Amino acid sequence: MIVFDLRCVKDHRFEGWFASNEEFERQLARGQVSCPYCDDTRIEKALSPVAIKKSSSSPSNREAALQAWAQLCRYVQNNFEDVGHNFAKEALKIHCGLAEERQIRGVTTGAEEEILKEEGVPFAKIPMPQQLDN
Ligand SMILES: [Zn+2]
Repeated sequence: MIVFDLRCVKDHRFEGWFASNEEFERQLARGQVSCPYCDDTRIEKALSPVAIKKSSSSPSNREAALQAWAQLCRYVQNNFEDVGHNFAKEALKIHCGLAEERQIRGVTTGAEEEILKEEGVPFAKIPMPQQLDN
């Protein structure tokens, strides 16, 4: 649910609850949103920021992003071999066919990243939460 601060043309302010921004726009276009004080349907969003009601079924964008990130971290931790500080070396070996092709994770220095980039080795950097390394 999203709650908008709304106001009518007579500057009455009130809150409106909607399933989504699209739903709000749809109801507004149909004249289904009216001022509780004067019944005017000429409504617009007040300038105050939109508040998003938190609930488990509709997490905010930030929560959704955090969940996706946590999922990615878990996936990497469970499915990638941890080669620690040897990441650049191993990635290069795999890239050159000198080591078995597999998914690896680890840490690199900035200089190592430059080498990987120059060699065209595909890799992605994601921030890992500390507790996953335990
Ligand atoms: Zn009004």
